[in-house]
Amino acid sequence: MNILLLGSGGREHALALKMSQSTLCGQLFIAPGNAGTAQCGTNVNMGVSEFDKIKTFCLDNAIDLVVPGSEEALVNGIYDFFQKDALLQHIPVLGPSKEGAQLEGSKAYAKLFMQRNNIPTAAYREFSEENYEEGLAYLQQHSLPIVLKADGLAAGKGVVIAASYEEAAEEFEQMIKSAKFGDASKTVVVEQFLTGIELSVFAITDGHTYKILPEAKDYKRIGEGDLGLNTGGMGAVSPVPFADAAFMKKVEDDVIRPTIAGLSKEGIVYHGFVFFGLINVEGSPFVIEYNCRMGDPETEVVMPRLKNDALELFTAVMTGKLSEQTIYADERAAATVMLVSKGYPEAYEKNKVINGIPAPTRDQVVFHAGTRQEGNEVLTNGGRVLSITSLASDLSLALAHSVQTAEQIAFDGKVYRRDIGYEFV
Ligand code: AMP
Repeated sequence: MNILLLGSGGREHALALKMSQSTLCGQLFIAPGNAGTAQCGTNVNMGVSEFDKIKTFCLDNAIDLVVPGSEEALVNGIYDFFQKDALLQHIPVLGPSKEGAQLEGSKAYAKLFMQRNNIPTAAYREFSEENYEEGLAYLQQHSLPIVLKADGLAAGKGVVIAASYEEAAEEFEQMIKSAKFGDASKTVVVEQFLTGIELSVFAITDGHTYKILPEAKDYKRIGEGDLGLNTGGMGAVSPVPFADAAFMKKVEDDVIRPTIAGLSKEGIVYHGFVFFGLINVEGSPFVIEYNCRMGDPETEVVMPRLKNDALELFTAVMTGKLSEQTIYADERAAATVMLVSKGYPEAYEKNKVINGIPAPTRDQVVFHAGTRQEGNEVLTNGGRVLSITSLASDLSLALAHSVQTAEQIAFDGKVYRRDIGYEFV
């Protein structure tokens, strides 16, 4: 099979490596890719939403499967673009239809879907210009803190947890009246604050049946002790110790099965990953958000633990044979530690030479995120630069190995957290 993978982060390097290890893998192309994906296949200079270029590329290179890594192409409708084009119809896209991608692309859509399908989530109301005054009054009666969410995609910045009524009203005003997140905040979801510990659960589905992949927990804050600004993610662990069999049964019964049944019943076309952002409230899972693709950096711990042949699994999704698959997870614990550029998630410098990246072993892989190759050198090319994943008999060992390698890799302005998975060790 010839594959086109879309994206350029650590997630895509982890997916590229996993697919390149498949016995079914022919040529693997990654657009646009990074210095790490170039070691697994061929990078192609093409944006993930340049659908016309993608079309020409797929036809010229006899592509058999397109795998979008991030939500961008999916929310922009890449699945439907392929389906509607007579020349592309035969090429499967591993992802939801544009409508299915709304589970991530619109918080209000996701909330209504959960309500219709009885899936546990925080109580909420939806507001826009039309019921703005009602919204302001609603905020005043809400218990603190108040969670405000821009309806659309806002580069991970669209959620505000307001500690006071003043802050809530100001945010509400900025989102709706001053278009703080552009069209994305024309509609705002106001919801109840839930207290608990978060985790990420992943399933792969054909829209009717599903298989659950290893779960993970990511660490979003820039600073140790979960302090400071939110980032795309500074590290992740898998498995998650509190996600024991009893808890995962509740997740499957209360969240996963009703979600897939909802997709099926409502005729929402979906072939791909579902990411359930969950919060464990006193032993019961609630959905904080859906994503329509794998997480980053969670993929960097999930894929190394997945023992299945990835392309066999993806083919099963596309041919209605997913129910025949069994998921096998590595018993070992995985931890990934992200090396980022000084200043991230705010302004940072690029083009710093990276030295000391070790070759992959059975127990450790350094995934590339924001990197690029120039001649013989690998340079930094983003806020998140490298994701060091280690596998070991227990989580503390895996973390220690990743931190040890984090110390050895050198680039100007290297920043990382030493306390990923701290609650569990
Ligand atoms: P989201 O983009 O919906 O995942 O929200 C970003 C982050 O905000 C989540 O990872 C949570 O940490 C937090 N958050 C979102 N909704 C809630 C909620 N209802 N209660 C508590 N925290 C929340």
